Amino acid sequence: MSYAHHFSDHTPAALPLGKVVCVGRNYADHARELNNPVPDAPLLFIKPATAVVELTHPLRLPHFGGACHFEAELAVLIGSPLTRASADETLLAVAGYGLGLDLTLRELQDSLKKKGHPWEMAKAFDASCPLSPFVRPEAIANVEDCHYTLHLNGQLQQRGETRNMLTKVSALLAYCSQYFTLLPGDVVLTGTPAGVGVLQPGDQLQLALEQCLSVATEIAPNE
Ligand code: ZN
Repeated sequence: MSYAHHFSDHTPAALPLGKVVCVGRNYADHARELNNPVPDAPLLFIKPATAVVELTHPLRLPHFGGACHFEAELAVLIGSPLTRASADETLLAVAGYGLGLDLTLRELQDSLKKKGHPWEMAKAFDASCPLSPFVRPEAIANVEDCHYTLHLNGQLQQRGETRNMLTKVSALLAYCSQYFTLLPGDVVLTGTPAGVGVLQPGDQLQLALEQCLSVATEIAPNE
């Protein structure tokens, strides 16, 4: 099924699907749960447009690479270009906020990390980036102090508080834009808090951003 950015009121965002720039270890509690050092600068990687799927459709796990972990993250939809931007101008370029899953083949990632290889096969594979509909930026009073949750089979599994990010949203967009021009339709995933875990066929997920966005999805059964 083809994906197009859209808002939670079902209006299209009229922005092309571009790349997804992601940050690893942006919450200290998540870095610690995987026994990773807390980085002193954002650790960036990219998922291509082919990774993006609609979160609310049943999600298919890949048939390779071992255990697939969920990582719930605040997703920022870019509405106007950012190149080497300063933090105080970045939020004006935001077209919407939503939630995404940074699906990760953790065993494959661990073996790539041990070899010092890039992570793309573990994190940028087809359908590795389910995205929710977006809300307009005005729906979030202060993105630097908002929260989101992920429930797995009815149990609270992850709660992200953006004030706990090591690099805050506006500074993160500015940092990304030093290396990668952010174009209209690109998305930035802002990192995951503690509580990541393995997905199984049949799992039910609910994600919520403040009071303004609530979405559900499920992991498709094995074929
Ligand atoms: Zn992540």
